[in-house]
Amino acid sequence: MNDYSIDHAAIARGVPYPRNYNSELLTFARGKGVYLYDTAGRRYLDLGSGIAVNALGYGRRDLARTAARQMRRLIHVSNLFANEPALRVGERLLRTAAGVMREPPVAVHFGNSGSEANEAALKYARLYALRSRGAGHHKFLCFENGFHGRTIGALAVTPNPKYRDPFLPLLPDITVCPYNDVSALERIVSDEYAAVIVEVVQGEGGLRVMTPEFAAALSRLCAQHDVLLIADEVQTGLGRTGTLYASQQREFKPDIITLSKPLAAGLPLSATLIPDRVNRLLNLGEHGSTFGGGPVTTAVAEQVLATIEAPRFLMQVQQRARELDTLLDSLQSGRHSVTGVHGLGLLRGVELAVDTERAATVLSTVLERMRAAGVLILRSGTNVVRIAPPLTITAAELERGVTALDRELRQLESENWFETGGTE
Ligand code: PMP
Repeated sequence: MNDYSIDHAAIARGVPYPRNYNSELLTFARGKGVYLYDTAGRRYLDLGSGIAVNALGYGRRDLARTAARQMRRLIHVSNLFANEPALRVGERLLRTAAGVMREPPVAVHFGNSGSEANEAALKYARLYALRSRGAGHHKFLCFENGFHGRTIGALAVTPNPKYRDPFLPLLPDITVCPYNDVSALERIVSDEYAAVIVEVVQGEGGLRVMTPEFAAALSRLCAQHDVLLIADEVQTGLGRTGTLYASQQREFKPDIITLSKPLAAGLPLSATLIPDRVNRLLNLGEHGSTFGGGPVTTAVAEQVLATIEAPRFLMQVQQRARELDTLLDSLQSGRHSVTGVHGLGLLRGVELAVDTERAATVLSTVLERMRAAGVLILRSGTNVVRIAPPLTITAAELERGVTALDRELRQLESENWFETGGTE
């Protein structure tokens, strides 16, 4: 073992973070490309990119220059006024999503986080249902293992008890449907609903991918009952799955799309894209945000979008995704610790052969051992290791990361950490 380790000195000094954050502290000082460097100068290959945020990698001078230039020019104006970068990013987002949504979007609400993007979507849906159909059509439908954020509204459509139980009661009139279950969906969806909120790939819930049948049924049923279909593309959007929007990979026609994580390359920014039939019913002052769509975050977002939209960029992501497929295929074959590989593009999950009780311990151990080997990787759901590297990762870097995972899983298998092939 080498000396990649926890920052015990910082822990001893006392960490000014609340206890809901991990006490195993690793303090990072800087980043370059796909690598992060801790305060002792040790280097880590980052297969998590700040939970799918740092899509363009670390230490980008071009982005830093853009942010600095904009800060010198104008840092903030309130939403009582417009600013140039926000106008340009708004137009760009509308253009890119035009063929993806059921009706082309005509407006973008900017916020600061994925949760806020979803809050806006849910509020717009309520307002649309009320003003277009009257009272009694306000329910929300969400899905098992879905994740939409931690604010009270977004949490109310996030069924995982671990996140929500301490905060009950949340919002009433929310139904949870099994994901990818077309007949359950057909039984539930009715005009009592204002919106359905769903992910094309369940980023926090184990990387399950929406089946084509389910995508088609969702689109059909929502259109039939005039229920707004909200695609939460906070984690999947902007190139992560190999297309600009994951929705493009299915016969899936959302009415609203929410975006955030990679939008401003690590600065806080989110976007909620809405069609005309929603926008025309909104009145002045009915929703808002102090910082959302500020000139610095949107100036950076403009550059992020220009980078990701360049034709070669997405082709390269698709190429990396194919390489990752091959690597994960061989990781899975002959490995009794792995029961499945899920996800799309560069958002993948490796499901481990562990029962629910031991899953948390085993996952922590995998993540710790990977970290000791100088590779950062994520968890998702109860028993899934998540891989979401910067989209700029090279084939060699990807291979190095997956090889490290392969090695650590093999070692853990030999120590009998997994369900089959030997018991403790
Ligand atoms: N939706 C999805 C699909 C997410 O993955 C996340 C964050 N993991 C959120 C919403 C919430 O985003 P934030 O933490 O920025 O509020």
